[in-house]
Amino acid sequence: MQPRYKRILLKLSGEALMGEGGQNGYEPLNHSIIAQYAKEIKAVAAEGVEVALVIGGGNIYRGMNEAETGIERAHGDYMGMLATVINGMALQAGLEKEGVFTRLQSAIKMEQIAEPYIRRRAIRHLEKHRVVIFGAGTGNPYFTTDTAGSLRAIEIKADVILKGTRVDGIYTADPEKDAAATKYETITFRECINKNLKVMDMTAFTLCMENSLPIIVFDMNKPGNLMKVVMGERVGTLVQG
Ligand code: UDP
Repeated sequence: MQPRYKRILLKLSGEALMGEGGQNGYEPLNHSIIAQYAKEIKAVAAEGVEVALVIGGGNIYRGMNEAETGIERAHGDYMGMLATVINGMALQAGLEKEGVFTRLQSAIKMEQIAEPYIRRRAIRHLEKHRVVIFGAGTGNPYFTTDTAGSLRAIEIKADVILKGTRVDGIYTADPEKDAAATKYETITFRECINKNLKVMDMTAFTLCMENSLPIIVFDMNKPGNLMKVVMGERVGTLVQG
């Protein structure tokens, strides 16, 4: 069976990497989760799929809470962007342990650890079947890593953005609160807006809609799910025009 998609952008949240235990019951990087993700990504790359990754930073730092922290929003956002680079490095190490060739590109220059983000270079890496990890979000405060994911996906002409989450798709209501909630298999961008369903923040969502980039929301923590999505099986929810 041939993969449905030739080039994907996988967006993972930083929080997904978090584990329990460690010091004070908090462990920002759970290495068994990272190893699991690395295996899943390796498997789809082995099918010939070109994989780009964007990872959040919420397990380490989120910049948006000026009132609570007293740290200016833009300043905190830069701290958040640095957190995504730490996560990117952790995933890079996990992937390389599995024998997958990777490149980390950062939207904020830090030449000792990452290439600067250069679109054409990223595409070249993908063509050579290296997994490209985009760190430091968009490089701008007041954005999110979802927006970075949408932006990079469009720039590299990915066929789809895969948003790996803890829930297995988009529901009519919050399934954790409403037992009667049902899952959409497919939904249009317009319906999401009309029904006020939060798939991504508005900036990220609008970028996808305006550029006809389909989004699949799926549960990344279920082993084998990433492969199923890539093979075109009905997993999660597909958002399209
Ligand atoms: N961030 C930013 N610009 C970007 C991407 C991220 O300022 O382009 C900052 C922002 O403060 C955000 C933090 O980095 O809160 C971590 O990213 P995010 O909250 O999107 O991570 P996730 O929720 O996916 O773990």
